[in-house]
Amino acid sequence: PVVLVTGATGFIAQHVIDKLLARNYSVIGTGRSEEKNSVVIKNFKEKYPKGELSFAVVPEIGADDAFDDVLKEHPEVKYVIHMASPIDFSTTSPLKEFFLDAAVTGTLNILKAIKRFAPNVTNVVLTSSYVSLMQNDPQIVLTNDMWNPITWDDVKNSSDAYRASKFATVNPALVTGPQVFDSSVNKVLNGSNQYILHVVKTDDVNSKAPQDQLPIVGVDVRDTAEFHILPLEIEALSEDRILLVDEPFIGQRVFNILNDNFPELKGKIPVGDYNSVDELEEKFCPKQDISNIINKIPGGYKFIPLETSLVDTFKQYLAKEEI
Ligand code: NDP
Repeated sequence: PVVLVTGATGFIAQHVIDKLLARNYSVIGTGRSEEKNSVVIKNFKEKYPKGELSFAVVPEIGADDAFDDVLKEHPEVKYVIHMASPIDFSTTSPLKEFFLDAAVTGTLNILKAIKRFAPNVTNVVLTSSYVSLMQNDPQIVLTNDMWNPITWDDVKNSSDAYRASKFATVNPALVTGPQVFDSSVNKVLNGSNQYILHVVKTDDVNSKAPQDQLPIVGVDVRDTAEFHILPLEIEALSEDRILLVDEPFIGQRVFNILNDNFPELKGKIPVGDYNSVDELEEKFCPKQDISNIINKIPGGYKFIPLETSLVDTFKQYLAKEEI
């Protein structure tokens, strides 16, 4: 089957494409420019010489009819995984325009284009986020039927919300893990890994890990990618809202993992208070229960542990860049 992946030059999207090609799906990606697309295509062609992969340019998902041309050209598309969404927190553009308008209009644009030009599409998977469920009280156990109490101004009623929930949406927590290709590693990593790097890089390595640093819940990028494909392959997941979370963790956990695994970083990253980690996490980290999703997967699902995820990320980073 043919899968259209939007935002295909992105960190998570490349892992999705990697898994799709490994399973012999045909993939059509969209990226913002010929220049960015060609780098990704070249890497995948080397890894999967027989893989069926092509890219189209969609410079701005929020522009009128952004996805019409690519779907007109590819009426054979069966599955759509819509991952393109603004995620650059350093933007200086007006926030509503940059985040909300692009995300909402971009999503409506892909849905409209599917309706008009893609008669063979049977499933749509939309990458949403953990933040759409997040509650203010860390003691509340999150489940996949919750919504963030902070509603967007534009969502006026429950039918708007219902419309958005009527797909398989994947709602990942903070996504960590290596890039598919070592050559993608730069001094500044993709947004979510950079967030971790930021916690580790400090001028004062003797400081205790501030208790409010992070606390968060994470999931590895390879698991995140897998959960974008499972709703295409497991009927029972095809209309679910998938809260995708694995281990809750706090800054101190990152220090412990890195200090345990990378002795060469001694003196360069904080140690904090090694033994305080369990207590801090119990007190500050969000809690969740996704057993109703995992129970739908024959044989269950085993996530990549946070330690492996961070070790893989930093091994790849340190091979190229210094902390
Ligand atoms: P990336 O920034 O690596 O990928 C985002 C992709 O979307 C890029 O290809 C980017 O292109 C493209 N894009 C962004 N804005 C636009 C736009 N206005 N028009 C066209 N293309 C656009 O981020 P991730 O891989 O981390 O994120 C992928 C998806 O996962 C996003 O929807 C994000 O919200 C979601 N997500 C991510 C989490 C994380 O921790 N990483 C957690 C929860 C959800 P370019 O780089 O060229 O601008």
